Amino acid sequence: MIIFGSRATNIGSFESNSTCDYCKNKGVQHFVVYGKYAHIFWIPFFPIGRKAFSECTHCKKTITKKNFPPEVLQQYNHKKGEVKRPIWHWSGLILIGSLVLLIALIGKAA
Ligand SMILES: [Zn+2]
Repeated sequence: MIIFGSRATNIGSFESNSTCDYCKNKGVQHFVVYGKYAHIFWIPFFPIGRKAFSECTHCKKTITKKNFPPEVLQQYNHKKGEVKRPIWHWSGLILIGSLVLLIALIGKAA
């Protein structure tokens, strides 16, 4: 039986100044970014997307990326490049790539 699925881990967070759509306070929005990846037997294989949330530090209202108001989305797009996906999200592909390379090298040497 092959066990596979997808998981998400926190890959970074940052803060930015924008007006909260909910409490209208001009203050700090705390962004949290999750990286989703496909796994087989819990070994991460490849990334399949990101999820982002923002939380108002004043009223604690949390919104998901698809509900970001334009100002918040702009702030997010401006800073999201700072969040880098960890290389271990690719472990499965790297492992298979190395195996194929190894087999090719052994085949050449023989
Ligand atoms: Zn707020």
